[in-house]
Amino acid sequence: MSSTSSQAIVATAPDLENYTPGSNWSLQPISIPSQDKLADGEILVDMLATGICHTDILTTSVPGGTPGFPYPYVAGHEGSGYVRAIGPGVKKDIKVGDPVLLSFDSCGACGSCAAKHPAYCAHFFPLNIAATEGVFTNEDGEGVAGKFFGQSSFAKTSVVKEGSVLNVRDLGVGREELKLFAPLGCGIQTGAGAVLRVAKPVKEDRVMVLGLGGVGLSALMAAKMLGCEQIIGVDKVKSRIELAKTLGATHGLDTTGLDDLTTSFKEVAGGQGPTVIIDTTGHVPVIKAAYNSLASRGTFVFVGASLSPDFVLDIGITQHMMNGTRLLGCSEGDSFPEEFIPQLIKYYREGNLQLDKISKFYQVRCIPESLTWNGMRQANV
Ligand SMILES: [Zn+2]
Ligand SMILES: [Zn+2]
Repeated sequence: MSSTSSQAIVATAPDLENYTPGSNWSLQPISIPSQDKLADGEILVDMLATGICHTDILTTSVPGGTPGFPYPYVAGHEGSGYVRAIGPGVKKDIKVGDPVLLSFDSCGACGSCAAKHPAYCAHFFPLNIAATEGVFTNEDGEGVAGKFFGQSSFAKTSVVKEGSVLNVRDLGVGREELKLFAPLGCGIQTGAGAVLRVAKPVKEDRVMVLGLGGVGLSALMAAKMLGCEQIIGVDKVKSRIELAKTLGATHGLDTTGLDDLTTSFKEVAGGQGPTVIIDTTGHVPVIKAAYNSLASRGTFVFVGASLSPDFVLDIGITQHMMNGTRLLGCSEGDSFPEEFIPQLIKYYREGNLQLDKISKFYQVRCIPESLTWNGMRQANV
């Protein structure tokens, strides 16, 4: 037998006339290769849960596909599950039945990987953003691309690359925790890492988090862990701001109806402006207004992404220089998943990273509707 039956959320080319996020996703029966057909370094994982990240929506909204996104394909890049089968040449200590978390893939050999900064792997794009053609087969016998971020976690059973697998067998992770930990491999580590590994604020900092989805709320909880005295949560959805206040935000700012964001950002941060800004919105007007509100010697961290060619910030160099501003890019929270994810699990168990408060579970058939919920979304697959 050369294939096994599975199911997956398959993305097809979006119809931009009637497009809403997820409207080009559908749950379909698919075939996956059986164990004896696995290639070097491939593992079959029975998924327990998957997070839905902004990147899944962003990449499947590209009309007509772009190089690296051959429709139809299976997205999903933060999953958890159990190992079903192991292909040839797998070097990691992994056994059938092990509980695993899935994160981004990296080559393990380039300078960034060797320095424990795999999010900046020299091969990040081809290993992650490109999906591999023909990993799955649909009912019509047509190839469906997979191994998105090395995993395509939107499949009931998926073909996963060894580089994306983090074995949590020795961390005593039970089934309920494993479900909850699915988004650690992207959204949570991105937000928490932006603070803990990139901005590294101190107690006196005035930290402002723009956008209070799963990434922003994780950043906010990380700032609380560091004892930052002023933590400002900014969003245009009231319920998110209320939630942020229960997780450590000392101030909330609802941007609805505000026409001078720079002044509002300064005012909410004691008139001087924030000293650290974490942007998870990827929305240029908000980024620009926030950049101009930054206090002297402030730090701005770019976390939110966009595929738009207009995703450009023009900066007055003299103002930038005289203010001593630090502008920092941040991908995947600069995480070294093998060390950072176990650390995040420890923070959760200590009650400092309240994943249960920012998660909501959906059956996989309800995923398109779940995209309207204002928080971290996960699906049982
Ligand atoms: Zn992501
Ligand atoms: Zn590398």
